[in-house]
Amino acid sequence: MLVQSVRKLKFILRLTQEIQLYFFWVDSFPLPPSMPMDETQNSDEILLFIEDDQDPTRPEDSSLPAPWKILIIDDDPDVHTATMYALTELIIRGRGLEYQHAYSTQEAKQVLLYSKDIAVILLDVVMDMDDAGLHLVNFIRNTLAMSEVRIVLRTGQAGYAPEMEAIRDFDINDYKSKTELTQAKLLTAITSAVRAYEHIRAASDSNLALEMVIRASADLMACVEFKDFAEITLATMNDLFDLHAEGFVCIQHAPREANTPNTSDALGLWLIACTEQFAPQQGCVLSALEDKRIQLLVQKAVFEKRSQFENRHTVLIFTNASGQLVAMYLACDFHARMLDKHILELFSRNVVACLDKIVLSSRMHQLAFFDPLTGLANRFHLLKQLGNTLNSDKKTDSALALIDVDHFSETNDALGHQFGDLLLSAIGRRIKSYFGEACTIARVGNDIFALLGHEDLVSPTLILSLFFQPFSADKEQIQLSATVGLVRLSHYTLGASEALKDANIALKRAKMQLRSGFSYFTREMGVEIRERVRMMHALRAAFDEQRLFVVYQPQIQISSGQVIGLEALLRWKNKEGEFVPPNDFIPIAEYSGLIINIGEWVLRSACFELKQLERRGFEPMRMAVNVSQAQFNHPLFFQTLERALADSRIPASQLELEITESIAMNEPQVLIETLAQIKALGVRVSIDDFGTGFSSLSQLQKLSIDKLKIDRAFIRDISDPKDEGSIAKMIVQLSQSLQLEVIAEGVETEQQALALQGFGCDYAQGFLYAKPMKNADLEIWLRERSST
Ligand code: C2E
Ligand code: MG
Ligand code: MG
Repeated sequence: MLVQSVRKLKFILRLTQEIQLYFFWVDSFPLPPSMPMDETQNSDEILLFIEDDQDPTRPEDSSLPAPWKILIIDDDPDVHTATMYALTELIIRGRGLEYQHAYSTQEAKQVLLYSKDIAVILLDVVMDMDDAGLHLVNFIRNTLAMSEVRIVLRTGQAGYAPEMEAIRDFDINDYKSKTELTQAKLLTAITSAVRAYEHIRAASDSNLALEMVIRASADLMACVEFKDFAEITLATMNDLFDLHAEGFVCIQHAPREANTPNTSDALGLWLIACTEQFAPQQGCVLSALEDKRIQLLVQKAVFEKRSQFENRHTVLIFTNASGQLVAMYLACDFHARMLDKHILELFSRNVVACLDKIVLSSRMHQLAFFDPLTGLANRFHLLKQLGNTLNSDKKTDSALALIDVDHFSETNDALGHQFGDLLLSAIGRRIKSYFGEACTIARVGNDIFALLGHEDLVSPTLILSLFFQPFSADKEQIQLSATVGLVRLSHYTLGASEALKDANIALKRAKMQLRSGFSYFTREMGVEIRERVRMMHALRAAFDEQRLFVVYQPQIQISSGQVIGLEALLRWKNKEGEFVPPNDFIPIAEYSGLIINIGEWVLRSACFELKQLERRGFEPMRMAVNVSQAQFNHPLFFQTLERALADSRIPASQLELEITESIAMNEPQVLIETLAQIKALGVRVSIDDFGTGFSSLSQLQKLSIDKLKIDRAFIRDISDPKDEGSIAKMIVQLSQSLQLEVIAEGVETEQQALALQGFGCDYAQGFLYAKPMKNADLEIWLRERSST
């Protein structure tokens, strides 16, 4: 113990002697008191000036960099004093020293637990225990896992030197016996320990920074929206360089998003992400910023495409190869803090790479959710918004409207598609200017716009009033009208796509009404349409399961009562055993396209039935088959016809196709060509339900048809054969003048048959003669008839 005390005393004396010597040396060559000694000058030859009369009340200069923290652990207070004394005014890399003190192992542990950033620990090996220092080292390195702090062990006696393994394993910087530790050596030891600490810190700081950059880059890469991208960039910048600065991020030429501001800015800049101070300006254009100095600095940076560093103002510019630019304003002196240029460079490169990706994904987002012509939302975006509305409180007072521009396709055809596009853009702009941000406006079809918002706004009166004034396109003024289908969402229980479908149903209904120009969706409409869909599925199943069949109704020569032909009529008995009327299911088959396959099957069945009758020895007769417009216009119809004839081997002249008046009056050129082809095969054509459509006589003349079939509505009216005004009679006369055959359908009474005969109509079909029959019944009927 005594030896120890003596050694300590010697150590203190050595330090104080040297200090006195320094006084002497400095007196001879005075240095300016404020000039700090750099650690580069730190050697045994170069002396340190100590200012005894340093004013302790002198205010600290906050702009000075933080001092290095030195923890002195020694049970002898004199050692603390002497150490501080020896190191006073030491400046290492521009930073002074700050001391913390512990006088026992316990105290040291307390200090270590609560102090951060200690650079060097000067640790006495022998304190309360002989190896207290080494225990403490173990505690520092292993328990507290403080690997950066540098440790200089001091001991009063060499015998207490730690093992070499302990020095290596505990990462101890220096081990000095107090007697050999002169002031110069202490300075050297502290300086090299601080520098080592600085290097370790720098390495671990850049590791941390790298980790942060990597993490931020991953987050940035995952961003799909500019806003998230900007927020992460701003926050990372602050964290990375420990800036704690207020600021914002501006982007140029904002993609069209729901929150894009309307007001324009000269450079097209708007604030997309802000810290707290600038939060009220979030979403505004840069020119709306109150602080004009900041505004000008950002504009300058953007204009010059160069980052700007001013006193307490920094603007960083990130720009990619395609010219997309992001400007970040930070209210701080960034250049002074740019300690790690490499990290900034790396981060910037990552930001730009992510910017490329976000520009691309924003373009994809734009294409996926916005209509390129009008810039309005598209169908998908509308469905998304609609889904949000239906899942929120807004649902209770929201409505959806579909706005269909009347006769737009005619305008398009007449004036060209380019003009049509201009017109659609003008309509989109007008809807947007009126309903603006209050509603979601979308273009969901060629000439169909959608409006989603509060039901007071989404009202048919307001919407239709937008069409009171003409629209201008290409310097032309075009007056347009529209039809609106609406759905109130308040009690809506289904999803977004159903709501859109229902608005469409209401729109179709409004178009049919041709009166008010709008219609609200009602439950009944929905039931009706859903019933049709149900029927479509059932019809498809019936066809697949071969539950459809064909019946045949005879056609008679009135004068002789002879059977001249048959009409094939389709029948469907549903699973409940009820017959579904063809007038109900044929339109659904036409609408769904099922008619193509079903129609072919009817045609082939009829042809094979005719062949069968011929084989059974019945007199040759004709077979009439109904053909829908969809079948008739189908590109493969002619081949289907040829194949049916070839496969059944019936003469073409025995087959008659019944087409409707609407087919006969459609697209004259195509029709004339198709009819000519059919005629060339030798197949006959008749016009069914004649008199119910709007046949043009001139067109009728041009078509190579064989027969008119008077609709049964005109047969019902026949009462008096002398009735000159009868439409049936007029049709008969017309057929005579066009040299066409004529047949009456729906003949139920002898009187009607006689009247028709009187008009000059030779043929009839109807319940008077026979109802449509299945093939087995038909054969019995035909046999009975031929035997009478
Ligand atoms: P349609 O071609 O005008 O067929 C004549 C319709 O009048 C048939 O109705 C027939 O049962 C009915 N009818 C015949 N005689 C009388 C009568 O004396 N009194 C009354 N009240 N009705 C009579 P159906 O079978 O219900 O067919 C209705 C319509 O469905 C057909 O009118 C036709 O346009 C269409 N249709 C039927 N089968 C087919 C088919 O295979 N293909 C296509 N495309 N349409 C078909
Ligand atoms: Mg028919
Ligand atoms: Mg008919």
